[in-house]
Amino acid sequence: MSILDCAIIGGGPAGLTAGLYTTRGGLENVTMFEKGMPGGQITSSSEIENYPGVTGDITGMDLMMPWPEQCQKFGLKHEMVNIIRISKNDDIFTIHKEDGSTQDAHSVIIGTGSSPRRAGFAGEDEFFGRGVSSCATCDGFFYKNKEVVVVGGGDTALEEALYLAKICSKVYLVHRRDTFRSAPNTVERIKHTENIELVLNSVPDEVYGDKMGVTGIKVENNNGEIRDISVPGVFTFVGNDVNNQTLIQEDGTFLCDMNKQGQVLVNISMKTSVAGLYATGDMRVEAPKQVVSAAGDGAVAALQVISYVDELLN
Ligand code: FAD
Ligand code: NAP
Repeated sequence: MSILDCAIIGGGPAGLTAGLYTTRGGLENVTMFEKGMPGGQITSSSEIENYPGVTGDITGMDLMMPWPEQCQKFGLKHEMVNIIRISKNDDIFTIHKEDGSTQDAHSVIIGTGSSPRRAGFAGEDEFFGRGVSSCATCDGFFYKNKEVVVVGGGDTALEEALYLAKICSKVYLVHRRDTFRSAPNTVERIKHTENIELVLNSVPDEVYGDKMGVTGIKVENNNGEIRDISVPGVFTFVGNDVNNQTLIQEDGTFLCDMNKQGQVLVNISMKTSVAGLYATGDMRVEAPKQVVSAAGDGAVAALQVISYVDELLN
C-alpha cells in the first residue's frame, strides 16, 4: 500500500478545493475521503446568492455539482467511506476507516464541517423524519399548500422560512428572542412576506402527533403562555455542531489543539498544532461559515501541503 502525499478528509467546499489545488499543484497521490456524496452541507440549501460570480436562482446542489468532476480532471481520487480516526506516528498519519482498514499519508487536510444541531424539545427525536426536519429543500414539498413551523433565528432559519413560504400556505417562524442573528436584508424580506407569521420570544415545548406523523406543536413564550399550533411539519434550524470526532484519539484526547467549542485551532495558513495536519472550513476556529471562505481555506491549506510534502520527501 503506497503512502498518500495527502489525505483529504471531507468532501465539502473546503475538501474539494483542497483536492483541486493539491492535484493541480503537482501532488500525484491524493485521495479525498467523503462518507456521502461530495458537496457538503450547502447541497441542502434551497438558494445561494452570495457565491461570487453566481447569479440567478440556483440551489446549493446546482452550485456544487461540477466541483468533483473538476478535481477528478487533475487526478484527485475519491473514496466514499466514513473515517473514524486520524492518528500520527513519527511523520506518518494513519487514516482509520469504518470498515477497519487503514491508509497512511504524509499530510492531512481535514474539512469535515458541521452538522445540524437538535433543538432539544419533547418529541423532536421521536418525530425526526416523520414531520420534523432540518432540510427544507429535501422535505418542503411534502407540505405544499399546508402550514408549517420553522424554529430558529439565524441565516439558515430565515432563508429556509422564505423558501418554505413559496411552497406552503403559511409559515410560523418561532424564535426565542425578538431580534434575529440573520443578515438585515433577510430580516426585511421576512417581515414583508405576507404568509410568514413571527412567533417571537417563544420556544418549542413539545411536538406531538400520531402514527402518521406530526399533527402539531406547543410553543411557550417568555410569560409562560402556551400556544398550540396545528401543523403537519416542523423545521428546525438552530445551528450546527463541529464534526471533530475523527481527531479524537484512542485515549480520548484530541490529535491537535482545539478550543472549548470543539473547533480546531489554526493559524492563517490553516496549520494546526501538529506538523502536516491542516484544518479548513466550518470546523476551524473563527470560521466565517461561508462556502467562499471554506473554499479559500482549502486552497490555502493545499498550497501549504505542497511545500510541506516537498520538504519532507526531498
Ligand atoms: P461541509 O460543507 O459541512 O462539508 C463537510 C463534508 O465532510 C461533508 O460532505 C461530510 O459528509 C463530510 N464528513 C464529515 N465527517 C466525515 C467523516 N468522518 N468521514 C468522511 N467524511 C466526513 N454558506 C454560504 O456561503 N451561502 C449560503 O447561502 C449558505 N446557505 C446555507 C444554507 C444551509 C441550509 C446550510 C446548512 C448552510 C449554508 N451555508 C451557506 C454555510 C455553508 O454550507 C458552509 O459554510 C460550508 O458548506 C462549509 O464547508 P465545509 O467544507 O467546511 O464543510
Ligand atoms: P446560527 O447562526 O447559530 O443560529 C441559530 C439560531 O437558532 C439562533 O437564532 C439561535 O437563537 C437559535 N437556537 C439555537 N439553539 C436553539 C434552541 N435549542 N431552541 C431554539 N432556538 C435555538 O446557525 P445558522 O443559522 O445555521 O447559521 C450557521 C452559520 O452559517 C452562520 O455563521 C451563518 O451566518 C451561516 N449561514 C450563512 C448563510 C448566508 O450567508 N446566506 C446562510 C445560512 C447560514 P439565538 O439567536 O437566540 O442564539
